[in-house]
Amino acid sequence: MRAATPLHMFVVTLRCEHSCPYCQVSRQSKDRARYDMDRATASKAIDIALSAPAPLIKIEFQGGEPLLNFDLIRWIVTTAKQRAPQRFKTLQFVIASNLALLDDEVLDFCAEHDIHFSTSLDGPRDLHNKNRPRRGDNSYELAIAGIARIKDRLGSDKVGALMTATEASLDRVEEIVDEYLQQGLDGIFLRPLSPYGFAMRTRQFHKYRGQDWLQFWKRGLRYILDINKSGRHFPEFYSSLIVRRMLSDEPIGYVDLRSPAGTGLGALAYNYDGTVFASDEARMLAEMGDRRFELGNVHENTYRDLILSDTLVSAVADSLTQTAPQCSTCVFEPHCGADPVYHHATQQDTLGIKPLSEFCERQKGVITHLFELLEHSPQDAAVLRRWAS
Ligand code: SF4
Repeated sequence: MRAATPLHMFVVTLRCEHSCPYCQVSRQSKDRARYDMDRATASKAIDIALSAPAPLIKIEFQGGEPLLNFDLIRWIVTTAKQRAPQRFKTLQFVIASNLALLDDEVLDFCAEHDIHFSTSLDGPRDLHNKNRPRRGDNSYELAIAGIARIKDRLGSDKVGALMTATEASLDRVEEIVDEYLQQGLDGIFLRPLSPYGFAMRTRQFHKYRGQDWLQFWKRGLRYILDINKSGRHFPEFYSSLIVRRMLSDEPIGYVDLRSPAGTGLGALAYNYDGTVFASDEARMLAEMGDRRFELGNVHENTYRDLILSDTLVSAVADSLTQTAPQCSTCVFEPHCGADPVYHHATQQDTLGIKPLSEFCERQKGVITHLFELLEHSPQDAAVLRRWAS
């Protein structure tokens, strides 16, 4: 059985490479340099990440825009690679970036160290630029140009993109899928909005309900399955995760679909100032003023302190679907998971009040629909089984 790879997210800077009206940092201070992680903090975070028991560790660089602090990324990669053999660890690196600052120096370093990129692509130009406002109105052009440069220089498997469905996306799923196909991306994750950060600051999160997203996802999945049936391998990643969960005993490595929750156990987020959170969502929640999932600080705590902190232990204990009200008697429980950060953010209850939970509503809708396809549609089932393998 494969082990899931734990994710260690280094928020190397909270700065953005442009000023938009929503930027916390530009509102908070003119002294933006103080939102950069320093080497002493990064060094401690590396040691904590390398103390995790898994032999394979994934380090992801986040921001703000992490390429604004590329010197530190370079230092962390080389330092972590120097220290990893003493701990018998293998490392993977990912930079989560909008690609606006991508240049030859960055690409050369990433080629030398086998670094992957993750970016955002919400769909066609007008939709992407509307969702991701930027001075110059060129977020889409920069993302597309960056994806092409990475594919050309590093290889097509070195860049992935994530989309987030806003209200403006709901009736455009085919166009969004076509955009991904046109850019030569290897699949799509039809993601709903999360109740953190930008989606909350812009009030987008409340503009549609769980059922609206389910209709969007079902329509998109229909379109994607038909594309696959015509011979092109192009998975919808959330479906493939759930189907793999249904049809195999392989761990899927997706933090929000585990029981106990993957929060903290499958991912840790090291903020620029050394604060450690149980996930990147927990960090975003803290930026909104709620520090419920703050586990400690790299300058004061060890990996063991963080993992055994009362905050994490109680969140994980509350997250067991096998014993949670509603979940323990739910037919979907073996294929589902817990998301204590989401439920705390939306209901102030880490366990979650499932009859009122959009997470639960989406899970029931997705799993039911996938079961129906597996049971009643042999051609669709064949595609889904391929995605799961
Ligand atoms: S579908 Fe809802 S009730 Fe069932 S296991 Fe998932 S979260 Fe719990």
